[in-house]
Amino acid sequence: MAPAPITPESSGTTTPTGSTATSLTKAGIEHTQPNSNGSTESLAPLKASSMTINLTNTPRPVPAPDSAETKAQKTCTDHMITARWTASHGWEAPELKPYGAFSIMPTASVLHYATECFEGLKLYRGYDGALRFFRIGKNCQRMRKSASRIALPDFEPAELEKMILALAAQDGAKWLPKDTRAGGFLYVRPTFIATEEALGVQRPKEALLYVIMACFPDMSKSLADPAPPALKGEADGGSKSQTSGLRLLASSEDSIRAWPGGFGYAKVGANYGPSLVAQGEARARGFDQVLWLFGQESYVTEAGASNFFVVMRSKDSGKLQLITAPLGERIILEGVTRASVIDLANERLAAAPTASESGLEPVEVVERRFTMPELLEAQAEGRLIEAFAAGTAFFIAPVALIHFRGGDMEVPMDGDSGRYARCFKQWLVDIMWGNRSHEWGVVVEEKA
Ligand SMILES: *Cc1c(COP(=O)(O)O)cnc(C)c1O
Repeated sequence: MAPAPITPESSGTTTPTGSTATSLTKAGIEHTQPNSNGSTESLAPLKASSMTINLTNTPRPVPAPDSAETKAQKTCTDHMITARWTASHGWEAPELKPYGAFSIMPTASVLHYATECFEGLKLYRGYDGALRFFRIGKNCQRMRKSASRIALPDFEPAELEKMILALAAQDGAKWLPKDTRAGGFLYVRPTFIATEEALGVQRPKEALLYVIMACFPDMSKSLADPAPPALKGEADGGSKSQTSGLRLLASSEDSIRAWPGGFGYAKVGANYGPSLVAQGEARARGFDQVLWLFGQESYVTEAGASNFFVVMRSKDSGKLQLITAPLGERIILEGVTRASVIDLANERLAAAPTASESGLEPVEVVERRFTMPELLEAQAEGRLIEAFAAGTAFFIAPVALIHFRGGDMEVPMDGDSGRYARCFKQWLVDIMWGNRSHEWGVVVEEKA
């Protein structure tokens, strides 16, 4: 891929691959949809400015960052935002209201046919006191793309962005206080479900978009430390000392996360339920995550719900390359973190090192297919430099080991992380928590 300049987020729909517009057309996004009479008059669009506000009378206490309640990942902030859509009217006015249960009928489409998609992003309390999102526009565009894959209605991503910002502005000050939570975050989960009550397998005529914010522990720490309980058991015979990098179990040929023509590129719930058996097995055997392979060639795709990167020295050119699986076949989720690592590498690591930026040997970014045998060969020849997973939930997570076809492949690390992973992590931390002003950091205007 040619080096991509870093462009402002909200200004358009282009992505690092420039693929959004075409894929939306392919997936059949409709801006006007037939109403019940069969005619195509335009329906009411999603409009954040028409949002109604109904604040809670029973505010709840905020759990401590490291409490059991926070670790349970089920406590949400005082409010949520919902927006209802029907095929006959389009979007109704969004509502900001107290967080709580809502009812749907047992026949609701989502409960039977997995007509659901979601997003995951974090709201950061900066070291400078400001509240920020990271490249939130990208999440909103991806939500639209995911929705189109499962026949959920279209919306303008900028309107969803405004709704998320409104919720953050409402609950941020209390749930992520300036004085005590600098360096902390809340997890934001926009969700879209088909609520139509009808068992017929058909394009839903009613849907609900909602946004909630949850208290989460810092998973970039808790993922690898402490290690899963079984770690000292069978997986390593109890002989190796515990490292802080991820231990990945490569998936077997009878367990495939995504396939060409499927929906691996979309953040739809249908991708995750079926992955839990393999993930549970990996955990029980002392591994942190599944490394999802594809095909008889054992192409490496993703690690758990994160994108996967390796740094390798090219056999042909002798140059260092940062390699990740390509998006073209649509079996890879187009991660915001993935795009950001690629953009930063192109911008800051492509040329000769300068003391001010990283001091690291330059790397060339390559988005291409690569296989496990290729990694094994590189490792044996000393050309494998490091590997890491990249995603919002687990952030940049260095990989220490990959278990593939009965054997352990150790991945080099420099102490607790590879050097490139450490560098990307620091660059992203600086943007997310406001140490370095950058257009990817979107500041939330908080309620006074
Ligand atoms: C969400 C997700 C990612 C990471 O995407 P980010 O936008 O970086 O959080 C990667 N792979 C899968 C399968 C995912 O669901």
